[in-house]
Amino acid sequence: MIHLTGNQDLITAFVDSIDTFLFDCDGVIWHADVPVDNVIKVLSQLRTMGKRILFVSNNSTKSRRQYLKKFNQLNIEAYTNEIFGSAYAAAYYIKNTLQFPSDKKVYVCGMEGIQEELDSEGIKHCGASDDDENLHNLNEMSTIKDDPGVGAVLFGFDLNINYKKLAKAFTYLYSNKDCHFLATNSDLTFPAGGTVYPGTGALLAALSAPLERKPLILGKPEATMMEVIVDKYHLNRERTCMVGDRLDTDILFGQQGGLKTLLVLTGVTPSVGLEKQSIKAEYVIDSLGNLFK
Ligand code: PLP
Ligand code: CA
Repeated sequence: MIHLTGNQDLITAFVDSIDTFLFDCDGVIWHADVPVDNVIKVLSQLRTMGKRILFVSNNSTKSRRQYLKKFNQLNIEAYTNEIFGSAYAAAYYIKNTLQFPSDKKVYVCGMEGIQEELDSEGIKHCGASDDDENLHNLNEMSTIKDDPGVGAVLFGFDLNINYKKLAKAFTYLYSNKDCHFLATNSDLTFPAGGTVYPGTGALLAALSAPLERKPLILGKPEATMMEVIVDKYHLNRERTCMVGDRLDTDILFGQQGGLKTLLVLTGVTPSVGLEKQSIKAEYVIDSLGNLFK
């Protein structure tokens, strides 16, 4: 592990060795709705140096358009084609890798961000907000039947997850072994407001456990997300660095994908005990804001 904090020679050599930076967002670029100190300046300096910038997030609740709105609100320069969230990764994969038949639809457990990205790729879908209402008694279970028109179930974070959505997703996957089982990410927790809450992976377990079937996961640290990014941006992996605050998603993602990795200590990973962690980043800095003054 190379500690970059305060060592300008090491920082210069590191930055010179990289053409493309993949940035995780929460804990690296911002904390909820506040940019990390000096990060706006660092990103603009990297752009001036001709570096390519991509933003890679596991948060499936936002589409690229919604992310762009957030970047604009925080006065952080960003462009739609630099934003790569797990909702978009899933839509891109369904369209380009699965070459999803136009007569099939995707059943979605998730929110507006996923619906918007599927629309942007011209993929038919159902579920999500259409199924936000709860079932009220067991007799209503009989309304849940297999639908041969559903060719894939896509599971993402859903604040309104309910039994109806789980039962529908289960039925499609249980009845039809050819129905694709996809998930935007599998984070068991996500950080918010200084604590953590159950994440997509926690909700997903309610579906994958009874199905005894694991989904293909489109988020970090899975290789599929890396393949989608490499396919879209034609990255030279040796000159690309994944910058993140979480070892088991961001840093593992970069390592398994053959990228350089930079851990920042402004997010979920504490500075103490780094040497004892099984996943080790190649580079560490206390904050992305301290790459340049
Ligand atoms: N999933 C949800 C629902 C989130 O809100 C977040 C972060 O805010 C994440 C996942 C993790 O996102 P990232 O990869 O940007 O840290
Ligand atoms: Ca993060």
